[in-house]
Amino acid sequence: MNEAMIKFNELQIGEEIKKAIIEMGFEEPSPIQAKAIPAILAGGDVIGQAQTGTGKTAAFGIPVVEKVSTGRHVQALILTPTRELAIQVSGEIQKLSKHKKIRTLPIYGGQSIVHQIKALKQGVQVVIGTPGRIIDHLRRKTLILDHVNTVILDEADEMLDMGFIDDIESILRQVKNERQTLLFSATMPPAIKKLSRKYMNDPQTVSINRREVTAPSIDQFYYKVLERNKLDSLCRIIDSEQIDLGILFCRTKKGVAELTEALQARGYIADGLHGDLTQSQRDAVMRKFRDSSIEFLIATDVAARGIDVGNVSHVINYDIPQDPESYVHRIGRTGRAGRKGLALTLVTPREMKHLRSIEQEIKMSIPSQEVPTIEDVV
Ligand code: ADP
Ligand code: MG
Repeated sequence: MNEAMIKFNELQIGEEIKKAIIEMGFEEPSPIQAKAIPAILAGGDVIGQAQTGTGKTAAFGIPVVEKVSTGRHVQALILTPTRELAIQVSGEIQKLSKHKKIRTLPIYGGQSIVHQIKALKQGVQVVIGTPGRIIDHLRRKTLILDHVNTVILDEADEMLDMGFIDDIESILRQVKNERQTLLFSATMPPAIKKLSRKYMNDPQTVSINRREVTAPSIDQFYYKVLERNKLDSLCRIIDSEQIDLGILFCRTKKGVAELTEALQARGYIADGLHGDLTQSQRDAVMRKFRDSSIEFLIATDVAARGIDVGNVSHVINYDIPQDPESYVHRIGRTGRAGRKGLALTLVTPREMKHLRSIEQEIKMSIPSQEVPTIEDVV
């Protein structure tokens, strides 16, 4: 059977979930969903690999909501790399379970642990958390995993990048062996294969080729710029583009702060996101971006991990990423759910080598465009 032909209403899932899916506006399963959902429903361990923005959350979220029953124990544990993602995934599971009355709880550092302990006591069926905070609760015995029969490692590559491997292994060892383990990731570096061999039981891999997905939905260009004209070039580029929401990437926190200030000084509605902000400052920036009260979000790679904001029309690499995988992650912030997105990269002469290695990684060449002149902009 051709998975691409599978419709949501052909899946072996409850009517209440199908109703929620329709209300979420999902018409057809995305390719990774079409492959992963039946495999997960069959009960075995599954590794799902597909580029960011391809609907991996619902690919595991739908079967999880189907599998979880009401009752007071935690039955499913989802690990995510960042607090923003924990909140996002929890929100999506909540929507999917709207007619099934499942309680979900995001658990992450930076939020009062007392608040989380109280919420856990009230009985939740699905916990979504960052590894560090989950460990914290396990030590305090405020989170009990005895009844967990499904564990999901979401954005596994990013969790490993962030150094969570020991925490993840320690958590996996505390869940009973008779469980279903699911692992989702945009990329499959060797460390993930190793992790899956160690903690998964004869996993089935389902994957969607990166090029099938990025090619049609994200147009990519680069601009040759000089270091000393970088800011002016950027402003001309953004003035000549129709931008709904743009994410601008800088290499360092300092870079984020400087570019944010420079753009604000020139009258752009921009705000920055980097690791030094408090949780409530981060939340405030994300809220403004989500409800479009800012036009530009300026971020480092770490700050932007996994963020899913629907109408990001442009990803702009103000600083070109040094490693090709982070280019793939960055541009995945646009072109989400099949919408068209534009990924623009500023490249100084000495950074051309980074551009070439990115082209090698994505197996296509990125066309160049001229920085618009002042006349083009007005
Ligand atoms: P990933 O984890 O692969 O990066 P997400 O799960 O965050 O992707 O999904 C990206 C976006 O696509 C989300 O806004 C999600 O609501 C939307 N989406 C997911 N599945 C579908 C679908 N079948 N139809 C339409 N939109 C979808
Ligand atoms: Mg995801």
